[in-house]
Amino acid sequence: MDGMDFTFTKTSSPKPGDKTYDVAIVGGGPGGLTAALYCGRYRIDTIMIEKEILSGGQMTTTEWVENYPGFEDPVLGNQLAKSMESQVQSTGVSIVRQTVTKLSLKGSIKEIQTGAGTIKARSIIISTGASARLLGIPGEETFRGKGVSYCATCDGPFYPDKTIAVVGGGNTALEESLFLAKYAGKIYLIHRRDAFRGDKIIQERIFKEDRIEIWYNTVVKAIRFEDENDRHIVFSKKEKEEKLRVDGIFIFIGMVPNNDLFKGAVDTDEEGWVITDCDMKTNVPGVFAVGDVRQKNLRQIATAVGDGALAAYSANKYLDE
Ligand code: NAP
Repeated sequence: MDGMDFTFTKTSSPKPGDKTYDVAIVGGGPGGLTAALYCGRYRIDTIMIEKEILSGGQMTTTEWVENYPGFEDPVLGNQLAKSMESQVQSTGVSIVRQTVTKLSLKGSIKEIQTGAGTIKARSIIISTGASARLLGIPGEETFRGKGVSYCATCDGPFYPDKTIAVVGGGNTALEESLFLAKYAGKIYLIHRRDAFRGDKIIQERIFKEDRIEIWYNTVVKAIRFEDENDRHIVFSKKEKEEKLRVDGIFIFIGMVPNNDLFKGAVDTDEEGWVITDCDMKTNVPGVFAVGDVRQKNLRQIATAVGDGALAAYSANKYLDE
């Protein structure tokens, strides 16, 4: 990776249960990291809990980020994540690598259960992000990891000169198709409508890429990878069902909120996105939410970062009051 050093900084290991933090941040995407940075600078006792070895959330599976301000040239998602994490660590905030198994949000002291024990905090910033939405078609679950993928950075290199299908019409599908075109010989970009939702600037690049063939008004109905000699998807176009031979399929049809830990405990909309006010407060006192898990119009690193700064400000105020 361009000779860059991704050695991970050793993080402190707090002993769960032996103290009560001012703020616990659950999830270390750009929103959580920014909240941690601001909390650290406010000098409030803060812990951030992240399940992955490197914080950064979806940034870590994004090859290039080109719309985050301050970088004239695109920056590697991994590098941006590493820089954000190092900046947080320089403020003295503890980062622990643990999976949170349960959250208790009621009362003035909140509890976060992890594999290593319970962490207590006076306030919580939820930054659990979002995950890939599934198509929900036959074969999708069965062949997940065996030809069905939701991550181009992770799986693209497995398809040198191969034929793949990409499903979706948003920014993710378009950007990831361009990334996959570096490996695959042929990409069928399949979208259910007659126009993409993704940004025009990315569409322009898609239209110029010879290896990408666009199929509008096409719906993928099934994934049939059981016969190695006849791996194909079934699709319908103009109500006619046909099959297309592909080696793999990448699905980028939007996100669903990672809300299992607090379902029913904080207000969400009907799709499960957390409802906050403009200061990132949820309906539960002392509980804030930032980033992709929130109900919002634009899910970007830039918007998550803004959420994080506001949540830290609000948590600080809440603790003062
Ligand atoms: P998205 O913008 O919600 O787009 C999802 C796409 O999948 C839409 O084109 C949608 O079709 C299609 N779709 C949804 N359900 C489907 C189904 N069941 N079958 C077939 N197609 C389906 O999601 P996203 O692309 O993951 O992006 C999520 C957010 O991250 C967006 O706010 C996006 O702008 C942002 N993002 C930004 C960047 C960037 O700025 N560089 C990069 C990646 C993501 P319809 O259009 O017909 O609804």
